[in-house]
Formats: sequence, C-alpha cells, structure tokens
Amino acid sequence: MSYQVLARKWRPGNFNEVVGQEHVLQALVNALDSNRLHHAYLFSGTRGVGKTTIARIFAKSLNCDTGISSRPCGTCGSCLEVDAGRSIDLIEIDAASRTGVDDMRELLDNVQYAPTRGRFKIYLIDEVHMLSRHSFNALLKSLEEPPVYIKFLLATTDPQKLPVTVLSRCLQFNLKRMSKQQIQSQLQYLLGEEKIESESNALGLLASAADGSMRDALSLLDQAIAYGAGSVKQQTVETMLGTISRDYLFKLLDALVRQDAAEMMRESRNIIAHNPDYARVCAEMISLLQAMAFYKSDANIEPADDMLGEQIISLSERLSVEEIQLYYQIMLRGRHDLNISPDEAAGFEMLMLRLLAFSPDPGQAVEQPATGKKKPVVQPLTTSKAEFPGAANSEDEGHPLDMDEPTRDPSASAASADSPPATRPGSNGAQRVGAQSDLESGHVEPEPEPETGEAIHWSSFAYELGLLGQAQMIFLN
Ligand SMILES: [Zn+2]
Repeated sequence: MSYQVLARKWRPGNFNEVVGQEHVLQALVNALDSNRLHHAYLFSGTRGVGKTTIARIFAKSLNCDTGISSRPCGTCGSCLEVDAGRSIDLIEIDAASRTGVDDMRELLDNVQYAPTRGRFKIYLIDEVHMLSRHSFNALLKSLEEPPVYIKFLLATTDPQKLPVTVLSRCLQFNLKRMSKQQIQSQLQYLLGEEKIESESNALGLLASAADGSMRDALSLLDQAIAYGAGSVKQQTVETMLGTISRDYLFKLLDALVRQDAAEMMRESRNIIAHNPDYARVCAEMISLLQAMAFYKSDANIEPADDMLGEQIISLSERLSVEEIQLYYQIMLRGRHDLNISPDEAAGFEMLMLRLLAFSPDPGQAVEQPATGKKKPVVQPLTTSKAEFPGAANSEDEGHPLDMDEPTRDPSASAASADSPPATRPGSNGAQRVGAQSDLESGHVEPEPEPETGEAIHWSSFAYELGLLGQAQMIFLN
C-alpha cells in the first residue's frame, strides 16, 4: 500500500475532528442544525488553518443523503464522493490557477442547472482573491441572485483583496492561527494512533516551527519521521530544522547574566559548531526572553512550558525587567541584521558581544572615574547604568546630591543600599527602586559639583530615554 501523507490521511472528516476554530464551527453547526443557510460563505485565514477542510465538511453536511445536518454520516454515497474528491455537485476551483474570465464564466454558466444528484450545487473557490476583475464580475452576478440550490464557499488568505461588493454578499468567518499547544497535542495524538515513538520536546519544536499552520506541522512531522527512520527524536528534529537544543541557549543566557565573557564566547562557538539556522536560534532566544519578561511582570505568570519553567524562572530572577527588555530588543534587531552581516556566524558572535556590551559592567562601576573617558564612543550610553548605578552607588559613597534629595523614600534607600553596586541585585524590587530614585535625583538641578555633575546628567538622560530608547537610538540611527 502506498504511503499517504499525514496531512491527507488525518484530514478531519467532520466538525468534531477539527482542531481549534470553535467560534467558526459553532456558527456553522447552528446554521446547519436550524437550517438557516446563507447562500455564500467566506472563510479567511492564513495557510493551513483549515479553511478548505471546514468548507468540505460543510459541503458534506449540506449534501449528505441522510439530510442536512452538522453531523454528516460519512458513509452515504454523497459523503464518500466528497471525501474522495469526486462529487459531481461539489465544484472545487483553485483561483490561483484559474484566473481567466472564460474559465469562470464557463463554470458559472452552469449555475442555472440544478444539482445532478445532491441537494445543492456547491462552488468551493479557493484563494478567491486571485480571481481577475472580470472573473469577479462574473462571480458577482451569480452571487447577487443565485438559485436556491446554489451555495458558494469561498476561501482566501487575503480577504482585503476582495471587492467590497463580493464581501458584502458573504457570511464571513475568520479562522485563527493554531496555538503551539493545539498543534503539539494534535501531533501527539496522531503519533499515538500511528504507533510512532516520539519525544515531547521534539513535537514542541515541530509545533513552533509550524508557526500556526496545522498543514505545515503535519508536513514537518512527515519529514521528521522519514529523517528519524520511523521515530521522532529531539536531536534529529533539531538537526532537521537547523535549531539547537535550548540547553545551549540557557548556558548562553546564564553566562550573560554572570557577565562571563569567556564562557559566553565558548558557548557561542559551541552553537556555531552546529552550523544552525541562526535566525531560528535568535528566534528561540527571543521567545525565552519573552517568557522571562512575562514571568517577571506583575502578571507573574509561570512559563507555559513546564520543561523550561525552572530555568526561565531562575534566569529571570537574576535580571531586572529593564535588562530583559533590553536584551529582547537587541536580539530582535540583531536577528534582523544577520541577513546583512557578511558572515552569519560572525554576525551571531557579534550579536552575543553586543549583549555583553550593553550589560551593566560591575567592575567598571567600581573603578569608574566620574569623568569616564575610557571608551569615548559608546560609553556614556552603554555603561550609564553601571557608571551611575543609581541610589545604591551614590548612597554608599555618601553622595552629596543624594543627601540633598528631599523626597527620598527611606525604604528605597534601605532596599538599594542592600545591593552593592558591584553585584547584581537578587530581587527585582531593589533594582527597580534604585532606578526610580535615580530618576528622581535626575530631576534635581545638578549641584555645582564638577566631577559628578556630568554623571548625574547622563544618568538622568539615560533613564528618561529608558533602556529601550538607548538601544533603539544606537541601532536605528
Ligand atoms: Zn452522508
């Protein structure tokens, strides 16, 4: 028996088998069961989310020999014909390949003839936005006053390209992209049914790579099964997708948090040795940072992925919200810039160095002379936080300006005094309070103190811009 690709073999045959899209299914089921049927339906959504699948099930429901119902029998002649793609009364048109006005006119000329065997004659037009203007006119004519036995099911990835006159004659349903969880659990289910061994992490990787499309997920799964000689393992999927294990990324982030440049470069080289898809590696890192920001936010939501939860929590507890945002922004811009770097591996390494460059440098904070002329080009912005690590630093030194500050919150001083400038504060609260008082002090007119006057100025400037602003200023300009 010849191998049937998973996407075809597991194409849902009824509404119960469709993954997601509950909002659309509910409306269709209600319409079918109460027999309140419109003559034209438009399904929009990105590729592989089930537009034509749902349209075919709908067609089956309309023409099932047992009667119009949201639960087509699946065994009658009509249902079987639709499933096999040879129903005479279901006319499927791929507008992407048939845009000539003659084709459409010829097809739509037949609208006047009653269905051959079923209840309805159903036109399923896929990628309907690709029709030519003349074809749209021909379609519009049929849409205006169709005979009672005609139904139009239109599908498109780009509804905005449809003429308003067509849109206004259709019931519109917008299909959503599938979530990673929906895709992953469907893959898990299918592999269980197929009795194919798999690792949960491998399926997670495939689900992420499918980017909301179930069809893409199933194609990737087919590929992974072939690649892994009958089983789906994390390592083979990583190689296949050009991703690398998240363990590498965690090591990288850990080195970044510890400001261990040597370790960071070692880990970068380890990653480069795998010759991965760098854009994908960056995307992975970005999604880890996003999970960290989420955990760190007041929403305090734990990462959805239990496998990663602990590591994400432990990393994010050693970073401030601002730092996470800054790293996120750097990675986002960096991924974009990989394309234009002369060599992707070098570009990736440079990106890692950039993460380090924009980190607060504890050592420098200590030895930092107030004038700070060591790295003239980027120093004021990149090291602003380390150079002027806020209340903590100045207070320890009994900074005159801080003492002049009348509105200082005593609890803030206590919190930030607990965290010496050379170490990263363990709790986010302390760091945030520090930042806040820094901002406050920035609003005070600089005292006539020649050495620190400049420092205060920069600190206020940096914080008013915000860390994100810094990154953007440097990268965008
Ligand atoms: Zn049937």
